[in-house]
Amino acid sequence: MGRLLGQGTFAKVYHGKQLNSGDSVAIKVINKDRVRKEGMMDQIQREISVMRLVRHPNVVEIKEVMATKTKIFVIMEYVKGGELFRKVSKGRLKEDPARKYFQQIISAVDFCHSRGVFHRDLKPENILLDENDNIKISDFGLSALPQHLRNDGLLHTQCGTPAYVAPEVLRSKGYDGSKADIWSCGVILFVLLAGFLPFRDENIMDMYRKVFRAEFECPPWFSSESKRLISKLLVVDPCKRITVPAIMRVPWFVKGFTRPVAFSLDQEKF
Ligand code: ATP
Repeated sequence: MGRLLGQGTFAKVYHGKQLNSGDSVAIKVINKDRVRKEGMMDQIQREISVMRLVRHPNVVEIKEVMATKTKIFVIMEYVKGGELFRKVSKGRLKEDPARKYFQQIISAVDFCHSRGVFHRDLKPENILLDENDNIKISDFGLSALPQHLRNDGLLHTQCGTPAYVAPEVLRSKGYDGSKADIWSCGVILFVLLAGFLPFRDENIMDMYRKVFRAEFECPPWFSSESKRLISKLLVVDPCKRITVPAIMRVPWFVKGFTRPVAFSLDQEKF
């Protein structure tokens, strides 16, 4: 185990090397005591099961899980390029790279949804870039699985990050996890092309008001096609919001898009 790569709420992530192959890995070291004390063991187990379930070229791959009495070690593929957030915080992206990232995000999200997994916290801070500048979605700690749906077929836990969260999640009347993820993808696309958030305000309540009304303005440099797509993604009524199959037919989206081959394992119990 080598240098510290980053730190989350319950874990530290280190660089590591597989002794037999010399391959780089990332090792998430979770302190069991802390997790138990905070009652977060369920969340950790969920994150591990979900990552095992969704094996996709644009999702961080989990390789192995080991545990001692006091710690859990999650061995993941090492993603070298840092967070998408870091890239976008240096300034907005041109349309072609933004499209490539968006295509890969949608492709991963589509695969997760096909396996019944809803991420629920999609944002540039949870999206990593590999050495070939490809997207790797990470941090499934807040994700939901079909067993989390209530009798009404909807999710009810309010979670996510304010600037990226869909209005129906804030309303606490139940929501469809796939539609909520699509909203977050809309915010991400806006951020990539603009370099700033669509819904922003110093006052959080005023920001929520803007989210509830989908009150945003595209900057003048957005192309008309990207504007049109964003206006279909950031739609308040989840039933009228564009779906993944429809996104994949939008001319702006399909330019240069090839769907990657993905596979998944049957859900294993951790
Ligand atoms: P939280 O626990 O609040 O959700 P987090 O998502 O930042 O926080 P981790 O998933 O534990 O927490 O990751 C911490 C940091 O480690 C990340 O921000 C990222 O920079 C780095 N990191 C995580 N996974 C990898 C990986 N597979 N390869 C390279 N770096 C990684």
